[in-house]
Amino acid sequence: MLQWTEEQRVLKETVRRLAREQIAPRAAELDELQEFPDDIYRLFVEQGLLKLKIPQEYGGVPADSATCCLVMEEIARVDASCSLLLINHQAGLGPLLTGLTEEQKARFFPTIAEEGHIVGFALTEPESGSDAASLQTRANKDGDGYRLTGTKCFITNGGKAEVYVLFATLDPSLKKKGITAFLVEQGAPGVRVGKKENKMGMRASPTTDLILEDAFVPEASRIGPEGEGWPILLKGLSETRILIAALAVGLADGATEAAARYAVERSQFGKPVSSFQGIQFMLADMLMGIETARSITYRAAMMQDQGDPLVRRYASMAKCYASDTAMRVTTDAVQMMGGYGYMKDYPVERMMRDAKILQIFEGTNQVQRMIIARDYLANL
Ligand SMILES: Cc1cc2nc3c(=O)[nH]c(=O)nc-3n(C[C@H](O)[C@H](O)[C@H](O)COP(=O)(O)OP(=O)(O)OC[C@H]3O[C@@H](n4cnc5c(N)ncnc54)[C@H](O)[C@@H]3O)c2cc1C
Repeated sequence: MLQWTEEQRVLKETVRRLAREQIAPRAAELDELQEFPDDIYRLFVEQGLLKLKIPQEYGGVPADSATCCLVMEEIARVDASCSLLLINHQAGLGPLLTGLTEEQKARFFPTIAEEGHIVGFALTEPESGSDAASLQTRANKDGDGYRLTGTKCFITNGGKAEVYVLFATLDPSLKKKGITAFLVEQGAPGVRVGKKENKMGMRASPTTDLILEDAFVPEASRIGPEGEGWPILLKGLSETRILIAALAVGLADGATEAAARYAVERSQFGKPVSSFQGIQFMLADMLMGIETARSITYRAAMMQDQGDPLVRRYASMAKCYASDTAMRVTTDAVQMMGGYGYMKDYPVERMMRDAKILQIFEGTNQVQRMIIARDYLANL
């Protein structure tokens, strides 16, 4: 049973109010224009939401995984793109928290926290998606640093992040053992933002290429030892998958509420459509799916906070189950509203498009199923 602390309850109510009053009215327009929400980003900075997880001694706000989940869930109830803005930033913070030395943390974190800098996360390449260990971006040793060359694609917050956590290889033949993580600054010589994608959903979240052309990164900006990028990556992925699950729960919940409110108002055959058993059964299935997804999501978050060794499997279960649920529930929300659900005048049309990516990024749901089964078999 989920029991919020008083602090978490207040935070949840505050974020819900902000989302309803300041994000919801902008959501349709941001989607249509495919615009980064500068005003909402500033609101997040003012509210300290970009500081979540950064240690207090470096100007941050300590927060456990469950607290971060409740923030992402509340924002996603009205706009998934805005929730993704924060989740991707957290995806960048994860490797920094795991891999940086205290000296490096003291150098990088205060600026990120004070200036409200967005941290990007750059792993995927045109030829390396699910098979992330096959990445080709090269890091060649050069004096007291490295020269990085390669192309990263599908980078969320591309062009808006001030720094990127970027994975490159010292030697592709070493596969996972060659992978090393770096902190790369936007605008540094040889670092260029490439084409911006035109997407089905999450349209207020920019997705771009990030191109490295002999870009110099000093040794002091390497995250963790050489060849240790892979374990740093894996640790962060579990945490981000749980946040994506929370986004999925919020998105599904928001779509259900919008559709149910409509069904109460809409009459056919002389009765509200919400009174028909066919609609009520659909609503019941939607609610059961959301509640089950929420349970596994917060269970995984608790396991993350407690350092449970099974968290990787549970993070994958949460991400996979919650995103499949969000896709099903948002599709049913459109169905419940009939032709009006298909129109851009109502939010469920956007929510259904936004849901699809949740089954694809941060490891596709096929990959999540592989992780779940393999981890179970390995621990039999
Ligand atoms: C909007 C968006 C935002 C993104 N943001 C970021 C970001 O910020 N940073 C970043 O680094 N990446 C990001 N990504 C990349 C994302 O994580 C990848 O798209 C995803 O991991 C899948 O890789 P792929 O697209 O190359 O698909 P592929 O790996 O080519 O997969 C194609 C199909 O094959 C299936 N498949 C692959 N291997 C197997 C297997 N072994 N068994 C069964 N099926 C398999 C997949 O499930 C999929 O259905 C983003 C992507 C999108 C679309």
